[in-house]
Amino acid sequence: MVDVLVIGGGNAALCAALMAREAGASVLLLESAPREWRGGNSQHTRNLRCMHDAPQDVLVDAYPEEEYWQDLLKVTGGITNEALARLVIRASSTCRPWMYKHGVRFQPPLSGALHVARTNAFFMGGGKALVNAYYRSAEALGVQIRYDTPVDAVELDADRFIAARSGRQRFEARACVLAAGGFESNREWLREAWGQNERGEWPADNFLIRGTRFNQGVLLKHMIDSGADAIGDPSQSHCVAIDARAPLYDGGICTRIDCVSLGVVVNRDARRFYDEGEDFWPKRYAIWGRLVAQQPGQIGYSIIDAKAIGRFMPPVFPGTKADSLHELARQLQLPEATFVETIRAYNAACRAGTFDHTALDDCRTDGLTPAKTHWARPIDTPPFFGYALRPGITFTYLGLKVNNHAQVHFGGRPSENLFVAGEMMAGNVLGKGYTAGVGMSIGTAFGRIAGTQAAMAATHHTGVQRAEA
Ligand SMILES: Cc1cc2nc3c(=O)[nH]c(=O)nc-3n(C[C@H](O)[C@H](O)[C@H](O)COP(=O)(O)OP(=O)(O)OC[C@H]3O[C@@H](n4cnc5c(N)ncnc54)[C@H](O)[C@@H]3O)c2cc1C
Repeated sequence: MVDVLVIGGGNAALCAALMAREAGASVLLLESAPREWRGGNSQHTRNLRCMHDAPQDVLVDAYPEEEYWQDLLKVTGGITNEALARLVIRASSTCRPWMYKHGVRFQPPLSGALHVARTNAFFMGGGKALVNAYYRSAEALGVQIRYDTPVDAVELDADRFIAARSGRQRFEARACVLAAGGFESNREWLREAWGQNERGEWPADNFLIRGTRFNQGVLLKHMIDSGADAIGDPSQSHCVAIDARAPLYDGGICTRIDCVSLGVVVNRDARRFYDEGEDFWPKRYAIWGRLVAQQPGQIGYSIIDAKAIGRFMPPVFPGTKADSLHELARQLQLPEATFVETIRAYNAACRAGTFDHTALDDCRTDGLTPAKTHWARPIDTPPFFGYALRPGITFTYLGLKVNNHAQVHFGGRPSENLFVAGEMMAGNVLGKGYTAGVGMSIGTAFGRIAGTQAAMAATHHTGVQRAEA
């Protein structure tokens, strides 16, 4: 029998597998995807949000614990567990040498992402390179890996893990780490969670999934049905406004539309519905998917003019381009008169200020509802551009309740040998909202804790102190 079974094949699972193996446990990792699609959402990531009190290799200046915590507090509106959040924050300041040891390399951000140079460490080669490095290291250390192995159930004896099942296969282990992602790829579950709106629409039918198709939430559902304590609202998620032309799955980072704060966003009735300049984009991009999801037809249109070009990361597909606002409205199939009037009213409300996209500047609207509170400049310089937006689900927040040892709980009791990490428990820290790079901070911190704890539980169970692998 293996000591530690890890279910999942993304960042959290790999961190757990590596830590458990380093602690001397024998480890088997079950990934539902085939080898070429391994790595879950983690393969799409770019960076890790890191606390640091002074410049650290690729990170400039300082990003102290308190500032990180305040950022998290603000985006979650207080729906977070402070002790667990602070644990994640502190762990983010010390994990990089360990990541480096397992082959992960960092680089400073490229232009277009310079505003996060202080807070976020970028992976060289992105999440794909990170995942590949971890798999290489895991294989070299003797972690057994099984692809194409979706786990559909676990056997429990009260709150003790006994075995996992994938179809007719059965895997016993002394301890187990669940790291099988959220349920974002399960369109039926999303439909159920979002329900039907007052217009009779099923908003989730118009969602696109930014990452892997393999996070179906099968294990999450199974655990909740088996009595594991859950946390989080199933309709809360990291949900970004992405290019409406993106594929249903795995569009990844390049389908994100990052020019929202430089212009205005209208719905299909050509009306604005939210302050596009509320805060810096890395602190706000993850609310726009939800905002678009609340609009009729679950569609929005990000509108900019020539002044915005070069100030944001260009998306993979070019925008709709026109030399006049009338023409842009026609091309986007928006009601022309309303659209032109919306832009006229916005332009007229823009107060002159000193435009600075790197600061919360004083360019704001006056007497307009909703206001645009920063970076408000008239949309008056052709060519004009429009991007149709759809809600792009990154990951869901419904998860399993944990303590600081990443233990799964049943009726408030922590399991001795069942642990959980990553998206499957991110809801403990993220009740709602998001700040860029914290998903990987949570997965790395709790993946490492879960792996260590699982190894301890396994070796304690057998009474054998194993040597360092
Ligand atoms: C496009 C995109 C960009 C992102 N960028 C960033 C970023 O720059 N920084 C950041 O912090 N976060 C980012 N995120 C969020 C980040 O990906 C997640 O927070 C993080 O990867 C979660 O890690 P995880 O291991 O929990 O899940 P995943 O990496 O999704 O891994 C889950 C794994 O479980 C497997 N699995 C699922 N069900 C089963 C089952 N039943 N049996 C066996 N295996 C199963 C899946 O195949 C997958 O391998 C991004 C996400 C996306 C989609």
